[in-house]
Amino acid sequence: MIVKSRVESLELQILRMLNARMNLSPKDYSNYLYLEKGYEGEVTFDHWMEEVEKGYLVVNDLILEYGNTKFQIDSLFISKIIHLFEVKYFEGDYFIEGDRWYTNKGVEIKNPLHQMERAESLLRRMVRDLGFNINIESTLVFVNPNFYLYQAPRNLPIIFPNQIPRLQKNLQKQTAPIKNTHNNLAERLLSLHTLDSPYKRLPEYSYESLKKGIACSHCHTVNTIVTRKTLICTSCGKWENIHEAVLRSVRELQLLFPKEELTVNKVHEWCNSIKTKKPIRKTLLENFTLTGSGRATHYVSKGE
Ligand SMILES: [Zn+2]
Repeated sequence: MIVKSRVESLELQILRMLNARMNLSPKDYSNYLYLEKGYEGEVTFDHWMEEVEKGYLVVNDLILEYGNTKFQIDSLFISKIIHLFEVKYFEGDYFIEGDRWYTNKGVEIKNPLHQMERAESLLRRMVRDLGFNINIESTLVFVNPNFYLYQAPRNLPIIFPNQIPRLQKNLQKQTAPIKNTHNNLAERLLSLHTLDSPYKRLPEYSYESLKKGIACSHCHTVNTIVTRKTLICTSCGKWENIHEAVLRSVRELQLLFPKEELTVNKVHEWCNSIKTKKPIRKTLLENFTLTGSGRATHYVSKGE
């Protein structure tokens, strides 16, 4: 049973928007691709685990803090023991020398086992402090079939893509009835999940400097045109109802500029390609609350 499902991180969502609307620096662009791949890997892992998840309490994407140290967990499967999974979508050939990991070109990368061991040790202390006595077992899972690791010692807690079916079977064999303790633990961990604010890590951008237009929901480019009721992407051919497209653009505006006031004119300018303001006003009225009067009229999220 999934207790917390996976969502794209704010950082990934925003970088994806920015990538479509400005030129990211090589460093920001490679960070963006890294996050995009990471998410793809986690989604692949979730697909593999769909059946297995039924026997566990599954908590995805946890950001926790123990003793002022933040750590992130890709997936926790809670039953009589806790399985911690660190998921990687590495592609290509890598090799290990001692404790160090390298790409096939000899560039050293961060040892992913260290990251996992650190998370495991912090989680162990946290679980103990919460008053639970339950073992934790960690596994590093590589999900990309085009990944190969040379010189990997046999005893590492690693699962390679062709071993995933075996992992599924083993996990299914280990399931036990979920008890109150497990529910309590899942709830406690969930309540300690912290939201990560990405804004400090993002590249600088301004409203004026960003390319305007409605981004495609499929390929995320702003190469779209608008007919009366439909958004059409000239890059990938996707069609979308105009109201859905406008609503998505408004959410985008809110994420990129959380302090900006939402007005019909602003959204009209942001969407760029819509001739009349009618569909914009309609979408805003249906999904947001109108506040203020005269020139100060603007929209806020419902419940604010
Ligand atoms: Zn598209």
